[in-house]
Amino acid sequence: MPLRLMVITAHPDDEAGSFGGSLRLYGERKVETCVACLTPGQAASNRGGAKNDQELAAIRRKEFAAACEILKVNRGIVLDYPDGQLHRQDSYKVICDLTRHLREFRPQVLLTFGPEGGLTGHTDHSMVSVFATVAFHWAGRANRYPDQLQGGITPHLAQKLYYSTANFTLPNRPPIVSSAPTACIDIGEFLEAKIAAFKAHTSQGPLWPRFEENMRQRARQEMFHLAASSSSSIAQETDLFAGVSET
Ligand SMILES: [Zn+2]
Repeated sequence: MPLRLMVITAHPDDEAGSFGGSLRLYGERKVETCVACLTPGQAASNRGGAKNDQELAAIRRKEFAAACEILKVNRGIVLDYPDGQLHRQDSYKVICDLTRHLREFRPQVLLTFGPEGGLTGHTDHSMVSVFATVAFHWAGRANRYPDQLQGGITPHLAQKLYYSTANFTLPNRPPIVSSAPTACIDIGEFLEAKIAAFKAHTSQGPLWPRFEENMRQRARQEMFHLAASSSSSIAQETDLFAGVSET
């Protein structure tokens, strides 16, 4: 079985902005990649000329697909939860959906936001962290959502869970305290693909200049916090698949 990496996000553009370099890097290393995004981003303040939420959702689904193509993501999924309202959803149902995707794609490594909500501290980012964390643990247990376990679907416990993190904060934002970086991934030349994938989100054009400036100022790296692991190692890492076996 090949190595597989899954990323669970809240909005189209999160995949590029917070995980794009690692997605592209591991794609290059023949790791199969999957992004599951909980909302189509219909509440964004940048509307891209859309007349209503439904139209913006349709635009952003297409932009997500274009970004996934640039990042060579093998499987891109946008679910239909309401943007900006993840804290008001039925958590048992959201975790059910994520558990099913984990059992289907069967990643060894799962990435998501930290519970602080990433650099922006967005409520949806905090909630996706909680949902993905519980799904990571429950997907491996036969007594969680047992009705999913048919047609060849079996429990699946991934080997590592990481939260996206950083060693800096954004100016003019409410203060956050991030998870400590334990893995520093050198994305090297794939910084360009990350920026290009972010710019595939045309409706979010007003965000581009600050994002690009920020990315070019930082070292060519993405940082993660190892939140759960099947091994007890706490070594500083430079590879998300360090110590992972191909099961
Ligand atoms: Zn977001």
